[in-house]
Amino acid sequence: MSKLTMEKLVSLCKNRGFVFPGSEIYGGFANTWDFGPVGVELKNNVKKAWWKRFVQEDPNTYGVDAAILMNPKVWEASGHVASFGDPKMDCKKCKQRFRADTLVENHSKGSVSAEAMTNEQLEEYIQSNHITCPHCGGFDWTAIRKFNPMFTTSRGTLEEGADTVYLRPETCQGEYVNFLNVQRTARAKIPFAIAQIGKSFRNEITPGNFLFRTIEFEQMELQMFCKESESMEIYNDYKARALKFVEDLGLKSENLRYHDHDKLAHYAKAACDIQYNFPIGWQELNGIHHRGTWDLSRHQEFSGKSMLYLDPFTNEKFLPNVIEYSIGADRLTLALLCAAYEEEALENDTRIVMHLHPAIAPYKVAILPLQKNLSQKAKEVYASLAKDFMCDYDEAGSIGKRYRRQDEIGTPFCVTIDFDTLEDETITIRDRDTMKQERLKINELNNYISQKIKF
Ligand code: ATP
Repeated sequence: MSKLTMEKLVSLCKNRGFVFPGSEIYGGFANTWDFGPVGVELKNNVKKAWWKRFVQEDPNTYGVDAAILMNPKVWEASGHVASFGDPKMDCKKCKQRFRADTLVENHSKGSVSAEAMTNEQLEEYIQSNHITCPHCGGFDWTAIRKFNPMFTTSRGTLEEGADTVYLRPETCQGEYVNFLNVQRTARAKIPFAIAQIGKSFRNEITPGNFLFRTIEFEQMELQMFCKESESMEIYNDYKARALKFVEDLGLKSENLRYHDHDKLAHYAKAACDIQYNFPIGWQELNGIHHRGTWDLSRHQEFSGKSMLYLDPFTNEKFLPNVIEYSIGADRLTLALLCAAYEEEALENDTRIVMHLHPAIAPYKVAILPLQKNLSQKAKEVYASLAKDFMCDYDEAGSIGKRYRRQDEIGTPFCVTIDFDTLEDETITIRDRDTMKQERLKINELNNYISQKIKF
């Protein structure tokens, strides 16, 4: 069957209610997307699966939900105000703006690591390799300028004199500033982690590719605080756990790989991305970073408050090392949609089927009465299952069309109600992937579905 392209996926997502273009009736708003009725369930389930794996099942991890708007000093401490910024260049001919590091990396097909290059080195590389504008083919670049991708807004009752505040470009600062609050209230001993899921905002220069890079997105991430002596083992452990998590959710191992960074930020001790083979090629899915004591030491310096951890066994006071694991909820959702998509040839037909893991499928079961006059019984079955699962109900159109629609939104089970149901309280349940059907008692359904959707 033909290969999945981003265009096909965008069209399916739009037509089936996964994702709509943001502000569509106004002509859209570039690189914003709205999750529809099916998409919001999918993304919520992805977030629930992550939280279950990394918070619920881990006795040493504690959740927080920190404010998006933080004291602006936080962003001075983090380095975002002064130096965070992508090196941007404008094409003088067509006026399009690009990241110089991306131009270099794309041109060298990833063989040159642009993130560690200075602006002068980037400019020199672009000039000597005659890298042209990807948009118009011109070769007339401005010099590189830093561009701060933090969105700003203002806080104050009067516009004039109001203070500038930032929409957070990353969630992790909410965990660093709460390090001692969590440690004290949870009576936590290192190693322990603080986890959070929340929105981040970046005024990206080169957003695009559907959900891959947007200006507003959700991050699921945790910071593990630990002793330096155990930090590398923990770092490697998160590399393995992060990979297993996405494999368990349905990404195939042949489409996943580690990308260890050879050039590191000055404070970092190790860094690795997990990349996924998207329809646009191999790209970062998540990051795992060994950040040393950098973040806590900066907050200690800028806030004037001690961030030291008191070891209850040795009475020693020190700044713990931090291992960070961060993955975009939208980017992972995109990867899972890509992995799930299949155009399957049937005997006399083809179908599009989304093989989503049942745990993240938007609806777990669809209730389909074979005829309209069975709707009363079908609605009873719906009402009892809906107490435990997201269910869909559909009585319009032929049963074949209704199955196809559920296949396209990834519903793992369809339950049909027929005239025998009225006699003997049995239904037919159809499996999305195998299309096999079996007969079950209504009172067996709940247990049957619960077992199949476990993660
Ligand atoms: P990239 O190199 O792709 O810009 P990054 O290294 O800046 O990513 P981090 O700051 O480490 O990314 O963020 C952690 C994760 O958040 C990324 O691995 C990705 O899954 C997600 N993410 C980052 N930026 C975006 C974005 N603009 N849109 C969607 N997801 C994003």
